[in-house]
Amino acid sequence: MKQYDVIINGGGMVGAALACALSGQGMRIAVVEATRREVREDAGYDERAIALAWGTRRIFDGLGLWDELADAATAIHSIHVSDRGRPGMVHMDRESEGLPAIGYVVPARAIGVVLDAAVARADDVDVYCPAALTGVVHSGTSVSVQVTRGDDKTGLLSPLLVAADGADSTLREQAGIGCRETDYRQTAIVTNVTPQLPHNHVAYERFTPEGPVALLPMSEQRCAVVWTVAADQADDVMALDDDTFLAQLQERFGQRLGRLQRVGRRQAWPLRLVSATASVADRLALVGNAVHTLHPVAGQGFNLGARDIAVLAEVLVDARRRGEDIGAAAVLSRYGEWRQRDHRNVTLFTDGLARLFTLPLPALGAVRSAGMLALDLLPPAKRLLTRLTMGRSGRTPRLARGLPL
Ligand SMILES: Cc1cc2nc3c(=O)[nH]c(=O)nc-3n(C[C@H](O)[C@H](O)[C@H](O)COP(=O)(O)OP(=O)(O)OC[C@H]3O[C@@H](n4cnc5c(N)ncnc54)[C@H](O)[C@@H]3O)c2cc1C
Repeated sequence: MKQYDVIINGGGMVGAALACALSGQGMRIAVVEATRREVREDAGYDERAIALAWGTRRIFDGLGLWDELADAATAIHSIHVSDRGRPGMVHMDRESEGLPAIGYVVPARAIGVVLDAAVARADDVDVYCPAALTGVVHSGTSVSVQVTRGDDKTGLLSPLLVAADGADSTLREQAGIGCRETDYRQTAIVTNVTPQLPHNHVAYERFTPEGPVALLPMSEQRCAVVWTVAADQADDVMALDDDTFLAQLQERFGQRLGRLQRVGRRQAWPLRLVSATASVADRLALVGNAVHTLHPVAGQGFNLGARDIAVLAEVLVDARRRGEDIGAAAVLSRYGEWRQRDHRNVTLFTDGLARLFTLPLPALGAVRSAGMLALDLLPPAKRLLTRLTMGRSGRTPRLARGLPL
């Protein structure tokens, strides 16, 4: 049996970020990842991008990794939200928060490369990949698991397991943690375009009766597009030739950035909400998509997961300094309770947006317009929304203040 302080099942962005956060804290960490990473070559024009909130940038600061990401990041100076054909709109900008950016758009590949390199450098982190974690057995003070790599089986022992294994988390299911699931019957079509006019670091979210369209500022004057369509139309949209795709996108987005001139490869993501009823169980903590898989309308999924790992790492490191058993229920409940409010608020906000802006009821259009006008005119409400979007609401863990653990 190999002994670890923490075993993380899932080495996606959230699992890898947790391993980075715990590294250097006098612990031994194992990461078990099912899928070998595809060789990450520069995807060129077609890079998939993720919007990182300001709070997530601070977490990367706290991990000591932001400098490695900064070159790949494009700052978002303001966010412009509008409803096609209606007067309401909301404008949020960095000046109101007195910060250099509301957030950043970063290629997902760059985040993966930086996290994987940091994990590879860490001599207190062992990565088992491609590998499957099976045979979870609890014994009062620890959990033993078996890690299978081909014919090779290794037993691991630890006081704590972390489920970072995504929306269909097997550890969550095995622990009997239920979840609320909603199939949005929508698909996000993701691609990059080059508009005629410079994006000037503005992120656009435009709601249309056919679904929301987001254009996020990227490097080389590209914009990352997330266009949500009804699931039964997704195949047709994916099959459009580039010119027709651009024309349809233009019709939905409008002329704010002039003519949309070039489009990259498209990817389709079916959308659903998965919201776990608890984020801890016996010697188990859930992080990232394993607890909350969200509609991408507000670009909050990874940001929420980054805050999970910032809080979990702080709770574990502090508990260890006090000589506590880091897998004990009392320690894990500190994590669960701390995360409850943020999980609830961001899930409600994202799910509410997804429903309010995609249900085809005419009366809702007027409600949305009035709501957006009111929101734009009410500074306290707008400030609250800006802070939520930036990941700055609620009690902030040390990493999210840019501080080391
Ligand atoms: C179209 C779209 C746009 C998005 N845009 C944004 C955005 O702009 N900003 C933002 O913050 N978020 C965004 N998100 C959300 C974000 O991508 C996710 O929240 C984030 O990737 C979740 O990371 P994760 O590591 O928790 O889960 P995953 O990425 O699902 O990783 C889970 C990992 O666990 C591994 N795994 C699974 N099962 C097992 C197992 N049994 N054993 C071992 N390993 C296992 C998987 O191979 C995988 O590597 C977007 C999502 C979509 C769909």
